[in-house]
Amino acid sequence: MKLYAPSTIRDIKERHGFKLSKSLGQNFLTDKNIIDRIIEGAGIGADDLVIEIGPGIGVITNEAAERAKRVIAVEIDKNLIPILKETLADKDNVEIVNQDILKTDVNRLIEDCRNSEDKLSGVKIIGNLPYYITTPIIMKLLEEGVNADSITVMMQKEVADRIKAAPGSKAYGALSVAVQYYCRVEAVVNVPKEVFVPQPKVDSTVLKLAMREEKPVELKDREVFFRCVKAGFGQRRKTLLNSLMGVEGVTKEGVREALLAAGIDPARRAETLTLEEFADLSNEVYSRL
Ligand code: SAM
Repeated sequence: MKLYAPSTIRDIKERHGFKLSKSLGQNFLTDKNIIDRIIEGAGIGADDLVIEIGPGIGVITNEAAERAKRVIAVEIDKNLIPILKETLADKDNVEIVNQDILKTDVNRLIEDCRNSEDKLSGVKIIGNLPYYITTPIIMKLLEEGVNADSITVMMQKEVADRIKAAPGSKAYGALSVAVQYYCRVEAVVNVPKEVFVPQPKVDSTVLKLAMREEKPVELKDREVFFRCVKAGFGQRRKTLLNSLMGVEGVTKEGVREALLAAGIDPARRAETLTLEEFADLSNEVYSRL
């Protein structure tokens, strides 16, 4: 049985009386090639733990279970749990967790697994993300310092474009700076909307976010760095001199001094600043708070 075939999805829906939930971002993958690209992109090894976000009916889960030592799949929809139990019945290395990923202590899941398995190598996070919370999921994992090697996930192409954007481009913004601070970003594959059931309105991209062992820049204060990034892009049409006035506790003179000390022309706009320049600038702002 091809689990990913549209006819299988139809059959499962009928037998279980399952109704797809639009509000939970349920667009199921029907293309084996794309499933393989996610698995290969993640680089899953035989001693790895895989954490999957939103398994749906288990198409990616099934393949991951063939490659990994253990798979923990976190699914919010309780109506999918009996279906997953059925579709993954022959996989004894899979654990299904019926939870909201945004409320899940992922590091605890990883730690518990490390304690119960004697030989666990890497940790790979994968998934075809529910699009309505793509950014919150990624930022939650990064901000809480998830103990994984990488996050290889499908998302709306437009969000992927923003994440991987370079300075000077239209898509470059606070999300690009934030994710690139924590990770090396690699595009795995572009995915047309036709390979999902039901078909979404937009195309998708799989990105691999490989966790950096060492951060690319030195920050005196991470919070001030992100406050500067947020203020800069919050009013991206304004010059940095004006937009950074939005950083709490700093005066216009302080902003000007910080910009000049960092070697940045106060008339520039946030979208032209590299990660290194944001770091230098925030370190100078921090000294003037
Ligand atoms: N992995 C499946 C596939 O590729 O066919 C399903 C992907 S579908 C785009 C997203 C999945 O995430 C759905 O199964 C949905 O129920 C689940 N989901 C939505 N919000 C979630 C949340 N907050 N926590 C965990 N899972 C969630």
